[in-house]
Amino acid sequence: MSIAENIQNVRTQLPKNVKLICVSKFHSGESILDAYNAGERIFGESRAQELRTKYDSLPKDIEWHFIGHLQKNKVKYIAPFVSLIHSVDSEDLLTEINRCGEKNNRIINVLLQVHIAQEEQKFGFFEQELYDFLEKESLEKYPFVKLRGLMGMATFTEDSTQIEREFASLSSIFQNVKHAYFPTDEAFCELSMGMSDDFPLAVSYGSTMVRVGSLIFGERG
Ligand SMILES: *Cc1c(COP(=O)(O)O)cnc(C)c1O
Repeated sequence: MSIAENIQNVRTQLPKNVKLICVSKFHSGESILDAYNAGERIFGESRAQELRTKYDSLPKDIEWHFIGHLQKNKVKYIAPFVSLIHSVDSEDLLTEINRCGEKNNRIINVLLQVHIAQEEQKFGFFEQELYDFLEKESLEKYPFVKLRGLMGMATFTEDSTQIEREFASLSSIFQNVKHAYFPTDEAFCELSMGMSDDFPLAVSYGSTMVRVGSLIFGERG
Protein backbone atom coordinates (compact mmCIF):
# COMPACT_ATOMS: atom_id res chain seq x y z
CA MET A 1 0.00 0.00 0.00
CA SER A 2 1.23 3.48 -0.84
CA ILE A 3 1.24 6.38 1.61
CA ALA A 4 -1.60 7.97 -0.38
CA GLU A 5 -3.68 4.78 -0.09
CA ASN A 6 -2.94 4.51 3.62
CA ILE A 7 -4.13 8.08 4.11
CA GLN A 8 -7.27 7.36 2.13
CA ASN A 9 -7.99 4.41 4.45
CA VAL A 10 -7.56 6.52 7.57
CA ARG A 11 -9.59 9.40 6.15
CA THR A 12 -12.58 7.14 5.40
CA GLN A 13 -12.73 6.32 9.13
CA LEU A 14 -12.53 9.94 10.28
CA PRO A 15 -15.42 12.36 10.60
CA LYS A 16 -14.71 15.61 8.73
CA ASN A 17 -14.42 17.70 11.86
CA VAL A 18 -11.61 15.58 13.33
CA LYS A 19 -8.10 16.73 12.44
CA LEU A 20 -5.58 14.22 11.19
CA ILE A 21 -2.04 14.74 12.46
CA CYS A 22 0.28 12.69 10.25
CA VAL A 23 3.01 11.54 12.62
CA SER A 24 6.16 11.57 10.52
CA LYS A 25 8.82 11.11 13.21
CA PHE A 26 11.80 9.09 11.96
CA HIS A 27 10.41 9.17 8.41
CA SER A 28 12.06 10.95 5.51
CA GLY A 29 11.21 14.24 3.88
CA GLU A 30 10.33 12.22 0.80
CA SER A 31 7.65 10.27 2.68
CA ILE A 32 6.30 13.52 4.09
CA LEU A 33 6.05 14.92 0.57
CA ASP A 34 4.08 11.84 -0.51
CA ALA A 35 1.54 12.64 2.19
CA TYR A 36 1.69 16.34 1.34
CA ASN A 37 0.96 15.58 -2.31
CA ALA A 38 -1.99 13.47 -1.18
CA GLY A 39 -3.37 16.64 0.39
CA GLU A 40 -2.17 16.43 4.00
CA ARG A 41 -0.90 19.61 5.67
CA ILE A 42 -0.57 18.75 9.38
CA PHE A 43 2.47 16.77 10.47
CA GLY A 44 3.59 15.72 13.95
CA GLU A 45 7.12 15.18 15.19
CA SER A 46 8.52 14.17 18.57
CA ARG A 47 12.09 15.50 18.43
CA ALA A 48 12.81 19.20 18.34
CA GLN A 49 15.93 19.19 16.18
CA GLU A 50 14.50 16.71 13.70
CA LEU A 51 11.42 18.91 13.45
CA ARG A 52 13.57 21.99 12.88
CA THR A 53 15.50 20.30 10.06
CA LYS A 54 12.30 19.14 8.37
CA TYR A 55 10.71 22.57 8.73
CA ASP A 56 13.70 24.15 7.01
CA SER A 57 13.59 21.83 4.00
CA LEU A 58 9.86 21.23 3.40
CA PRO A 59 6.97 23.38 2.08
CA LYS A 60 6.17 26.35 4.25
CA ASP A 61 2.41 25.80 4.30
CA ILE A 62 2.86 22.69 6.46
CA GLU A 63 1.43 23.04 9.95
CA TRP A 64 3.94 21.42 12.30
CA HIS A 65 2.80 19.91 15.58
CA PHE A 66 5.13 18.81 18.35
CA ILE A 67 3.80 15.69 20.05
CA GLY A 68 6.62 14.12 22.10
CA HIS A 69 8.16 14.87 25.45
CA LEU A 70 9.73 18.31 25.17
CA GLN A 71 12.78 19.30 27.14
CA LYS A 72 12.94 22.95 28.15
CA ASN A 73 16.28 23.56 26.45
CA LYS A 74 14.83 22.39 23.11
CA VAL A 75 11.86 24.76 22.96
CA LYS A 76 13.98 27.38 21.19
CA TYR A 77 14.38 25.18 18.10
CA ILE A 78 10.66 25.04 17.38
CA ALA A 79 9.29 28.24 18.95
CA PRO A 80 9.59 30.38 15.77
CA PHE A 81 7.20 28.25 13.71
CA VAL A 82 5.46 25.44 15.62
CA SER A 83 1.64 25.47 15.23
CA LEU A 84 0.75 23.43 18.30
CA ILE A 85 2.68 21.76 21.11
CA HIS A 86 0.58 18.82 22.33
CA SER A 87 2.74 17.76 25.22
CA VAL A 88 3.01 20.43 27.90
CA ASP A 89 3.46 18.49 31.11
CA SER A 90 4.82 21.01 33.62
CA GLU A 91 4.64 24.58 34.77
CA ASP A 92 8.36 25.00 34.03
CA LEU A 93 7.87 23.96 30.42
CA LEU A 94 4.94 26.35 30.04
CA THR A 95 7.09 29.16 31.44
CA GLU A 96 9.85 28.41 28.93
CA ILE A 97 7.39 28.25 26.01
CA ASN A 98 6.03 31.63 27.09
CA ARG A 99 9.56 33.05 27.21
CA CYS A 100 10.37 31.74 23.72
CA GLY A 101 7.02 33.02 22.43
CA GLU A 102 7.86 36.49 23.68
CA LYS A 103 11.31 36.33 22.11
CA ASN A 104 9.78 35.39 18.75
CA ASN A 105 6.90 37.81 19.18
CA ARG A 106 4.25 35.16 18.64
CA ILE A 107 1.64 33.36 20.68
CA ILE A 108 2.29 29.64 20.84
CA ASN A 109 -0.69 27.26 20.92
CA VAL A 110 -0.39 24.40 23.40
CA LEU A 111 -2.28 21.47 24.86
CA LEU A 112 -1.77 20.24 28.40
CA GLN A 113 -0.85 16.57 28.50
CA VAL A 114 -2.79 14.43 30.97
CA HIS A 115 -1.38 11.19 32.37
CA ILE A 116 -4.14 8.64 31.77
CA ALA A 117 -2.09 5.47 31.20
CA GLN A 118 -1.05 2.81 33.69
CA GLU A 119 2.56 3.11 32.56
CA GLU A 120 5.06 5.06 34.61
CA GLN A 121 7.10 6.20 31.64
CA LYS A 122 4.27 8.20 30.12
CA PHE A 123 4.31 11.91 30.86
CA GLY A 124 1.63 14.40 31.81
CA PHE A 125 -0.29 15.97 34.66
CA PHE A 126 -2.30 13.60 36.81
CA GLU A 127 -5.95 14.58 36.98
CA GLN A 128 -5.80 16.29 40.36
CA GLU A 129 -2.50 17.98 39.52
CA LEU A 130 -4.12 19.45 36.45
CA TYR A 131 -7.03 20.91 38.44
CA ASP A 132 -4.62 22.22 41.09
CA PHE A 133 -2.47 23.83 38.42
CA LEU A 134 -5.40 25.55 36.70
CA GLU A 135 -6.80 26.63 40.07
CA LYS A 136 -3.58 28.18 41.24
CA GLU A 137 -2.23 29.60 38.01
CA SER A 138 -3.39 32.80 36.56
CA LEU A 139 -2.98 32.17 32.86
CA GLU A 140 -2.28 35.88 32.50
CA LYS A 141 1.21 34.95 33.58
CA TYR A 142 1.65 33.38 30.14
CA PRO A 143 0.60 36.01 27.58
CA PHE A 144 2.59 34.32 24.81
CA VAL A 145 0.92 30.95 25.31
CA LYS A 146 -2.61 29.98 24.31
CA LEU A 147 -4.14 26.89 25.93
CA ARG A 148 -6.16 25.10 23.26
CA GLY A 149 -7.11 21.88 25.05
CA LEU A 150 -5.82 18.58 26.38
CA MET A 151 -3.85 15.61 25.09
CA GLY A 152 -3.38 12.08 26.38
CA MET A 153 -1.93 8.71 25.49
CA ALA A 154 -3.55 5.43 26.43
CA THR A 155 -1.63 2.49 27.84
CA PHE A 156 0.20 0.37 25.27
CA THR A 157 -1.92 -2.75 25.64
CA GLU A 158 -4.10 -5.18 23.68
CA ASP A 159 -6.80 -4.74 26.31
CA SER A 160 -9.30 -2.54 24.52
CA THR A 161 -11.55 -2.18 27.57
CA GLN A 162 -8.65 -0.57 29.41
CA ILE A 163 -7.95 1.78 26.50
CA GLU A 164 -11.64 2.63 26.36
CA ARG A 165 -11.69 3.38 30.09
CA GLU A 166 -8.71 5.71 29.67
CA PHE A 167 -10.29 7.57 26.74
CA ALA A 168 -13.55 7.91 28.66
CA SER A 169 -11.62 9.28 31.60
CA LEU A 170 -9.71 11.85 29.51
CA SER A 171 -12.91 12.88 27.82
CA SER A 172 -14.58 13.58 31.16
CA ILE A 173 -11.50 15.43 32.44
CA PHE A 174 -11.70 17.58 29.31
CA GLN A 175 -15.37 18.38 29.99
CA ASN A 176 -14.57 19.25 33.62
CA VAL A 177 -11.71 21.56 32.67
CA LYS A 178 -13.72 23.19 29.91
CA HIS A 179 -16.67 23.93 32.16
CA ALA A 180 -14.64 25.03 35.17
CA TYR A 181 -11.94 27.15 33.54
CA PHE A 182 -12.74 27.91 29.90
CA PRO A 183 -16.55 28.05 29.63
CA THR A 184 -16.58 31.00 27.23
CA ASP A 185 -13.22 30.47 25.54
CA GLU A 186 -14.01 28.99 22.15
CA ALA A 187 -10.33 28.43 21.44
CA PHE A 188 -10.15 25.86 24.24
CA CYS A 189 -11.75 23.10 22.20
CA GLU A 190 -9.17 20.47 21.27
CA LEU A 191 -8.88 16.96 22.63
CA SER A 192 -5.87 15.18 21.12
CA MET A 193 -6.25 11.44 21.60
CA GLY A 194 -5.95 8.34 19.46
CA MET A 195 -3.10 6.78 17.46
CA SER A 196 -2.84 4.14 14.73
CA ASP A 197 -4.19 1.29 16.86
CA ASP A 198 -7.00 3.09 18.62
CA PHE A 199 -8.06 6.25 16.79
CA PRO A 200 -11.64 5.14 15.88
CA LEU A 201 -12.27 4.42 19.57
CA ALA A 202 -10.78 7.79 20.52
CA VAL A 203 -13.05 9.55 18.04
CA SER A 204 -16.08 7.84 19.56
CA TYR A 205 -15.03 9.43 22.89
CA GLY A 206 -14.83 12.94 21.48
CA SER A 207 -11.30 13.23 20.13
CA THR A 208 -10.85 16.26 17.86
CA MET A 209 -7.30 15.41 16.77
CA VAL A 210 -5.85 11.98 16.07
CA ARG A 211 -2.10 11.40 15.83
CA VAL A 212 -1.52 8.65 13.30
CA GLY A 213 1.96 7.47 12.32
CA SER A 214 2.60 3.83 11.43
CA LEU A 215 -0.75 3.33 9.72
CA ILE A 216 0.26 6.02 7.22
CA PHE A 217 4.04 5.76 6.92
CA GLY A 218 4.59 2.12 7.91
CA GLU A 219 6.80 1.02 10.76
CA ARG A 220 9.53 3.51 11.61
CA GLY A 221 12.00 3.85 8.75
C1 LIG B 1 4.67 8.10 17.71
C2 LIG B 1 3.52 8.79 18.33
C3 LIG B 1 2.23 8.69 17.78
C4 LIG B 1 1.91 7.85 16.56
O1 LIG B 1 1.96 6.50 16.88
P1 LIG B 1 1.48 5.36 15.83
O2 LIG B 1 1.15 4.21 16.70
O3 LIG B 1 2.65 5.13 14.94
O4 LIG B 1 0.30 5.90 15.12
C5 LIG B 1 1.20 9.41 18.37
N1 LIG B 1 1.41 10.18 19.46
C6 LIG B 1 2.63 10.29 20.01
C7 LIG B 1 2.79 11.16 21.21
C8 LIG B 1 3.72 9.60 19.48
O5 LIG B 1 4.92 9.73 20.06
